Amino acid sequence: MSTRREFLAAALGGFPGFGAPPAIPLQTIRNGRSKRRYLWIHGNERTARAVLLDHIKRYRGTANLVRSKTRNIRLFDGVIDPNRLFSRTGAEVNLRTLNPRWTAEKVAKALDRLDRGREKTVRAVFPPKDGLLIALHNNSEGYSVKDEVAISDRVSLRDETHPHEFFLCTQEGDFEILKTAPNNVVLQNRASKEDDGSLSRLAAARGVRYVNLEVALGNAEKQREMLDWAERHLP
Ligand SMILES: [Zn+2]
Repeated sequence: MSTRREFLAAALGGFPGFGAPPAIPLQTIRNGRSKRRYLWIHGNERTARAVLLDHIKRYRGTANLVRSKTRNIRLFDGVIDPNRLFSRTGAEVNLRTLNPRWTAEKVAKALDRLDRGREKTVRAVFPPKDGLLIALHNNSEGYSVKDEVAISDRVSLRDETHPHEFFLCTQEGDFEILKTAPNNVVLQNRASKEDDGSLSRLAAARGVRYVNLEVALGNAEKQREMLDWAERHLP
């Protein structure tokens, strides 16, 4: 006679990816019931982590934090950027770049593993219907809103002298609100650009409300201020 666990495994076995490890190892912190979801996905962006841990104590919602101290997470004996694995196409490009010594078979094996765990991770981080996902990032010298302007559908640069601080959103309604903040904001609501495997692209493709909050590493005060603004003004 089978145990309850075996029965459940058999019953659920029809779902793709059941039992597979998630594509990204996450720690989940819940504060009450809410359609708000927060994500911290790059383990080296410590300012964003501290801001989110503080925020989730004060506001309702569910926060998912990557279990990593480095930007890239381990996969077999190599690494992958966790914000490049939300499509097989994007993951393949990233795996080949970060693990140049891997054979084609190894890359294929890693991609198959990610395929099995991807939806589990997507379900964990995406909000329920009409809910909002806010992802917190930190950048340094190399990246700013200037890199996003050309590939964005709408742009509002109210704080052009601070290009490292900006919102990136995937829905017109959120853009209309965020552009009234004293900050920079870009809208990317079409997934027509190159498939880089990022979460923002998947959110745009699936019509999910997603806001990416980018602030320079170390500027916790500004990140807290912008997160509070978004929290108070977005539905
Ligand atoms: Zn990041």
